Amino acid sequence: MSIQTCLRCKGPCIHHTHEGVIIDRCSSCGGVWLDQGELESIIETRVNTHSPSFVSETLKQGKAGLPADAQTDLIPCPKCTATLKVINYAYDSGVIINICPSHGVWLDSKELERIEAYRDHWKNEAVKRRAEWGALSSASAVEPASDSGLLNFLKSLF
Ligand SMILES: [Zn+2]
Ligand SMILES: [Zn+2]
Repeated sequence: MSIQTCLRCKGPCIHHTHEGVIIDRCSSCGGVWLDQGELESIIETRVNTHSPSFVSETLKQGKAGLPADAQTDLIPCPKCTATLKVINYAYDSGVIINICPSHGVWLDSKELERIEAYRDHWKNEAVKRRAEWGALSSASAVEPASDSGLLNFLKSLF
């Protein structure tokens, strides 16, 4: 569903295509409402990338836990009107988002971009690690009996 009025500042929301998904972005504060599943589909199918400096800036802000004002951050779900739950995206991204488990998520200005940068980083890390494990298993296949060869190979990774 689309929203016409910003959940935060009551400003007008406009349709905006982001990574192939039509989202509602507030033209005054830049906040975004995403229906359930839309955040995942943006993350999975996105084609753009963020600058390395934005990614490292995002990672620097990463930490677990909720800020002190999380309890007073009360905004209602536009569909069921229940107060959106305040969570730290992916537990320790440091991106504090408001979510209705059934209907969607509210992201303040730049939070969508920060989530993308965070996920891009970990996606790249996963690819790197898979490559390392691939190299590791073929190396041990070549030298099945040599512990020192494997050890040297492990050392060369760091
Ligand atoms: Zn707004
Ligand atoms: Zn809801």
